[in-house]
Amino acid sequence: MGRKLLLDKAHIEGIRYYDVYRKNGGYAAAEKALKSMSPDQVTEEVKKSGMRGRGGAGFPTGLKWSFLAKPEGVPRYLVCNADESEPGTFKDRYLMEFLPHLLIEGLLISSFALGANTTYIYIRGEYAWIPDILEEAIAEAHKNGWLGKNIQGSGFDLNIYVQRGAGAYICGEETALIESLEGKRGTPRIKPPFPAVKGLYQCPTVVNNVETLAAIVPIINIGGDEYAKIGIGKSAGTKLISACGNLNKPGVYEIEMNISVEEFIYSDEYCGGIPNGKRLKACIPGGSSVPIVPANLLLTTAKGEKRMMTYESLNDGGFATGTMMGSGGFIVLDEDQCVVRHTLSLARFYHHESCGQCSPCREGTGWMEKVLKNIEHGKGKMSDIDLLWDIQRKIEGNTICPLGDAAAWPVAAAIRHFRDEFEWHVLHPDEAQRRNFGLAHY
Ligand code: NAD
Ligand code: SF4
Repeated sequence: MGRKLLLDKAHIEGIRYYDVYRKNGGYAAAEKALKSMSPDQVTEEVKKSGMRGRGGAGFPTGLKWSFLAKPEGVPRYLVCNADESEPGTFKDRYLMEFLPHLLIEGLLISSFALGANTTYIYIRGEYAWIPDILEEAIAEAHKNGWLGKNIQGSGFDLNIYVQRGAGAYICGEETALIESLEGKRGTPRIKPPFPAVKGLYQCPTVVNNVETLAAIVPIINIGGDEYAKIGIGKSAGTKLISACGNLNKPGVYEIEMNISVEEFIYSDEYCGGIPNGKRLKACIPGGSSVPIVPANLLLTTAKGEKRMMTYESLNDGGFATGTMMGSGGFIVLDEDQCVVRHTLSLARFYHHESCGQCSPCREGTGWMEKVLKNIEHGKGKMSDIDLLWDIQRKIEGNTICPLGDAAAWPVAAAIRHFRDEFEWHVLHPDEAQRRNFGLAHY
């Protein structure tokens, strides 16, 4: 049984409420940090832990914190990115819904380390019921002296505010999120400057994902060195994976990053295999923005070793053969699923969510959707497959924010690994049209 650092208490009845959380060891890490550590010591523990950001990019958290500019007399902000909108990703929702005090405790420790007295949780609009849960927990934390002025006599002040998004995927991109938080339209800024230097209201800002901030609690509880021993190499600690698609037991799992992909999919401790004994066809292991990978490459590396659930192993071979850990949104496709249809559904999503600032993304996503729709509906030509390849190549690396790459990679990987399926649609137009009967909205 793998070690659990985040979800170990999730099963306790009433853990959502302060009294139960506190009785079960809650706020011990905050107490330790505020009473016996300096802000720099907290940052040092996070650095030692090797924990990488859990939102998708995997940037080392301690390093990001150390980039925070600290000009005299200028406020600093911590922003919790709870705009979890990546298709297939729902782990942060689970944390916020069932363990809101774990997040608040993580925010408190992190704000203390960064010297931020105002912290925002920016939550996606579709998580309509969760702000109430968070606000109730924030009120409880205030009442019990964990927020407000002079927290637990430490001299440190902190207020946390919850801000609801309005349903735009792009507001999960940190600079678009900041724009939205400032009351403007959520469009990404050009980086640099990074938020660590010029973020919210042009002040130094750290933007971290929900899981990243919750993981600060066990890091302080057990110490950075101990945390770094869990997992393999630069994939330190535990990671939440939201598993969905053709699985017997979809759900949110906390894994130590030392198990194989095969174990994660097939063992009863995790996903319990594919329903009805079907064959595994492909998987997107890190949310829709990372490349799809066929079963053979997913389970085994080029060296014939088992592929592991780590940042390095999943990315082995780059985008051509490997994929990425991303946000941990693990989407499984069985042998009955159509990769072309699946790719069209993603292309439609990215076209809809493009903010329209840069032409390769604004025009290219729509173009890819159109070409894919033709192929899927049996109206495509062989040359459309090469056209699709060409369009995605022209988007990748030519846009302001990663949404452009995220739209291009799934298309590239689908053609690279499943070109025969695209060709089948062109060669069997009647059958392709028949399969789509009644599904014209796609
Ligand atoms: P990124 O690599 O540009 O940045 C990672 C983080 O490190 C950012 O906070 C950035 O500000 C910081 N950083 C990097 N270099 C820095 C420097 N020199 N100085 C200061 N700070 C620096 O990636 P990103 O745009 O934050 O994230 C992209 C990822 O987000 C994608 O790969 C995707 O997996 C993921 N994603 C997740 C969701 C979700 O719902 N969880 C949704 C969409 C995308
Ligand atoms: Fe907007 Fe797309 Fe450009 Fe990102 S890549 S800034 S979403 S147009």
